[in-house]
Amino acid sequence: MRTPSCYNTLTRSLEVIESSPGEERNLSLYTCGPTVYAHAHIGNFRAYVFEDLLQRHLQERGFVVHRVMNLTDVDDKTIRGAHAAGIALADYTRPFKEAFFEDAKTLRLLPADAYPEATDPEQIARMITMIGTLMERGHAYQAEDGSVYFRIASFADYGKLAHVDLEGQRPGQRVASDEYDKEAVADFALWKSWVAEDGAVGWESPWGRGRPGWHIECSAMATGILGETIDIHCGGVDNIFPHHEAEIAQCECAAHGKAPFVRYWMHCAHLMVEGSKMSKSAGNYFTLRDLLDKGWSGREVRYALLAVHYRGGLNFTFEGLAAARTALGRLDAWRERLREVAGGEVSVEAPDAAAEELFAMLDDDLNISGALAVLFETLRESNRRMDQGVCTPKQGRGLLEWLARVDGVLALEPDDLAEGIPAEVEELAAARATAREAKEWKKSDEIRDQIAALGWVVKDTKDGQRISKS
Ligand code: AMP
Ligand code: ZN
Repeated sequence: MRTPSCYNTLTRSLEVIESSPGEERNLSLYTCGPTVYAHAHIGNFRAYVFEDLLQRHLQERGFVVHRVMNLTDVDDKTIRGAHAAGIALADYTRPFKEAFFEDAKTLRLLPADAYPEATDPEQIARMITMIGTLMERGHAYQAEDGSVYFRIASFADYGKLAHVDLEGQRPGQRVASDEYDKEAVADFALWKSWVAEDGAVGWESPWGRGRPGWHIECSAMATGILGETIDIHCGGVDNIFPHHEAEIAQCECAAHGKAPFVRYWMHCAHLMVEGSKMSKSAGNYFTLRDLLDKGWSGREVRYALLAVHYRGGLNFTFEGLAAARTALGRLDAWRERLREVAGGEVSVEAPDAAAEELFAMLDDDLNISGALAVLFETLRESNRRMDQGVCTPKQGRGLLEWLARVDGVLALEPDDLAEGIPAEVEELAAARATAREAKEWKKSDEIRDQIAALGWVVKDTKDGQRISKS
């Protein structure tokens, strides 16, 4: 079996991805999820689409992936938003959570096994336990402001992920905010003591009423659900420092250095807009909804986000979306043609060896450009054979089966294939087939209209009815 490899941010090298000893083909995967204070923008979704491709490819290679994605539903931004809206925090974040799941479905992201929420009392209890352990072991302290901070000087490895040299840094500086840059390395907050702006938001802890810092949320939820060592941890490059660096410090200190927190770290480059990172704070962003409103489909946005290597720069443009539409149109036309050639043939002829090449490309740190090149080369070659009338039904079937396998990883199939035909439409189609056999043409046409009213088209071919999305 071919084995995938990835570029590990920690070691800065390409590594073969393997399960831990004794884990057979199991892999745990933790992906930092959205902060639900607004709709996720398509920059965020670039990260999630890359993670989806990773998961699907690992599954294609026979791994059983156990994925957890957190939802950050308490932090400075969510609290500020709820306060400005004059509603409770949970009421403020709920619609953004729902929108996130809807968007994820539109972009065909496989669901994670669990979506822990930072405000869940079970998760808060885990965070408090972890902070308690860090306090006991001298890795954390409570400061005069009542907040609990991680003591960076107590962890010699701090900086190993982002490759920050702590020499010459001023130890003992503190920062309450979750975000800071490498020049301002400082003890970061694990538990933030309650302040008036927090209003009703807060939990009791051994250090008084307060709320968790962002970094401890991920550390506690990731290890609480997936165990002390996680196989793969992903996020955008902006998460490397301080967020993931802090996650390592917290987890490895809590585990008393027994276990590495993560075996493979993978980070995707940012989605850019005219040279700047797409971000909510810069205001240069599009949500998926913005693009759907402009007439683009989830599949087209998925293609545009997927088609560039995850570590490469990707500039968002409408030309890029138009190119995605053209590419998908070519794939759809090819699929239709293959179906016609394949006819009712049941036996299958495997496509040539080049087809295996597509997955081998993805083995190489998700080389999507290479994989798409194989896909379109196969398309061109088989179109040429079909033009010449030398593509046999067996070969057509073989290519269709291969395409179904490719769809399992790239998920670029037309909507009707992705969603499956609804049971109601299937039943109507069966009734229509019966009517046609009985030569009840009027009834057959009526049923066709009923199917059309549900948004589906039924076509009669020599192999029977074919149903597709209108
Ligand atoms: P946030 O909601 O800001 O915590 O971000 C959620 C995820 O999206 C994180 O993994 C970020 O690294 C990622 N992310 C944020 N902005 C971008 C962007 N412009 N391009 C790619 N990933 C991003
Ligand atoms: Zn995280």
